[in-house]
Amino acid sequence: MARRRIIDAHHHIGGDEDYADRLAETCSTLNIVKVCLVCTNMPGNKLDNNANTKRAFEKYPDLFVGFGGVNMWEDDGPEQVQRLHDEGFKGLKFIIPPKAYNDPSFYPIYERAQELGMPVLFHLGIVARRSARKIRIDNNLMRPIYLDTIARDFPELTIIGAHLGNPWYDEATMSCRWNPNLYFDLSGSTLKKKTPEFLGGLLWWTPTTFYGDAEGRYAWEKIVFGSDVNWTYIKDVLNDYEQLMDALNLRPDLREKVLYGTMASILGLTDEGEADEVP
Ligand SMILES: [Zn+2]
Repeated sequence: MARRRIIDAHHHIGGDEDYADRLAETCSTLNIVKVCLVCTNMPGNKLDNNANTKRAFEKYPDLFVGFGGVNMWEDDGPEQVQRLHDEGFKGLKFIIPPKAYNDPSFYPIYERAQELGMPVLFHLGIVARRSARKIRIDNNLMRPIYLDTIARDFPELTIIGAHLGNPWYDEATMSCRWNPNLYFDLSGSTLKKKTPEFLGGLLWWTPTTFYGDAEGRYAWEKIVFGSDVNWTYIKDVLNDYEQLMDALNLRPDLREKVLYGTMASILGLTDEGEADEVP
């Protein structure tokens, strides 16, 4: 049987000098073949910024995929999206907006991302409290239901919502059922503390259920593996995903999609794990 491959859809570059090297070693041990380095790029964050992220993906171009951080407070518009694309970032990351994510003033950003074929990852729900952040935090502006509007208005934009919208899980899962271009990761405390019965109850639909997915997919085809922890804990998060899928008795093909297949197609990888050449 072919060795299991994994893509980590949600990781942040850490501050240690050798972080990228240690992460790369960990990936080879766990057979993680791609890691999306999603950059928060918030004011005051000296570590998790676009420059450090770029340094890492340029050092390991086959392993790391850069998701550039867009600062929604500083009039980062479509020009910044274009700049990030031209610098080699393949996707974008959004967090802590000054207005709701679906505010029309952000639409030029999403429009350019859609044009450039850049998948976007949104932090959703409750956010960590760090004193370095001098901006006003309103978690209500990061509710998963806002991604429903964006997914409908930008049908060619691939959207990943983080943390299954914690604590607004029902908004997250119902939005993902109706929008073929909307996906979620389970990173964070949800995976550790919510039971398999709870998560299985939220992600219930199959191609044959009467109330189904817009494209007749299983709910679990919309869930991707994301670690969102320091490299030392990736194995632990992977174990949590495995235990959850064991407990739910998920079919082998769906497990493969959660850990690799769905994210591989979002990133445009061929079966050999290489990106398709788009002329
Ligand atoms: Zn994160």
